[in-house]
Amino acid sequence: MINVTKTHLPPLEEYTTYLEGIWKRNWVTNYGPLVQELEEKLKTYFGVQYILFVSNGTLALQLAIKAAGLTGEIITTPFSYVATTASIAWENCTPVFADIDDSTLCIDPNRVIEKITDKTTAIIATHVYGNPCNIEALEKIGKHYNLKIIYDAAHSFGVTYKDKSLLQYGDISTISFHATKLFHTIEGGAITTNDPKLAHRISQMSNFGHTGPTTFDELGINAKNSEFHAAMGLCMLPRIESLILQRKHIAGMYDKLLHWGKISKPVLSTGTNYNYAYYPVIFENESVLLQVIDALNRQEIYPRRYFYPSLSQLPYVSRQSVPVAERISPRVLCLPFYPELPEKDISAISRIINNNC
Ligand SMILES: *Cc1c(COP(=O)(O)O)cnc(C)c1O
Repeated sequence: MINVTKTHLPPLEEYTTYLEGIWKRNWVTNYGPLVQELEEKLKTYFGVQYILFVSNGTLALQLAIKAAGLTGEIITTPFSYVATTASIAWENCTPVFADIDDSTLCIDPNRVIEKITDKTTAIIATHVYGNPCNIEALEKIGKHYNLKIIYDAAHSFGVTYKDKSLLQYGDISTISFHATKLFHTIEGGAITTNDPKLAHRISQMSNFGHTGPTTFDELGINAKNSEFHAAMGLCMLPRIESLILQRKHIAGMYDKLLHWGKISKPVLSTGTNYNYAYYPVIFENESVLLQVIDALNRQEIYPRRYFYPSLSQLPYVSRQSVPVAERISPRVLCLPFYPELPEKDISAISRIINNNC
């Protein structure tokens, strides 16, 4: 059976070495030494001022919204994982969808401007598949209209844009370290910012709002992550450059084997050093996509419709017109894509796709 992705696990001995340390110290959570070490290393890796390692990427988004004090309407993309929109709704804000650019599949800044009202407080945009948004245009809009910019950088580990990690952009960025992501801590995520006030608030809110053992200045939640999760991250970190190179090699094989007459790929934003997080292809129409999925499934190959449906079609959002997202979502498919995927399987997958469209 071939799935869309396969979690990378380091050699067991590397992980158990960390476990022995945890047992010796008997310190399993609450900002232990491994969490601190991971945060320090990630801070350097991303080149950011502040980072907080949290329990998952969804909570990272919710905390970002809460700490930035957002209310009212938040302009966001309909083409992302459900967690982006759900976090906005969960924090009692209204998601307002701005349509996407049909080449990068990221939010279109021109559509963002059209959606700004006096209730708008922020823009939450996703670097789709790790492809950078139009950062300059969004930054300009943010400054001009006094809107906070939060990037859902869940897919962006290891991506640089203009020689800086994508995590450095925006007022706040959030990332997921879920087991299906490129770099993972089993479950986990992080929030990054260069703003000391926001960083302080995020940190306080992530630990029940504690300001001391018996004092609480404001509302908080528990977003902490454990030593066991940090240990997985510390095992993954030295391996990541090599994993990205292996993914690049596999992407190159798909690039070569697939017939590009009737299918296409998103266009990478210029200035990007990509991480090869996903391998999405766009079909001519949904019925071809369904036929391809069916043919692959018959060989026990399971690609993923990601992102589908367009988030504008969620039952808890108001109806809004985003024709580009609603045209692309039904036609996009992420192919099986991970370093250990054998060459013969890449050939077989490509052949099935070529024969069915
Ligand atoms: C995975 C993902 C999330 C959620 O992260 P979790 O760690 O699974 O909670 C949010 N946004 C996007 C775009 C994602 O792909």
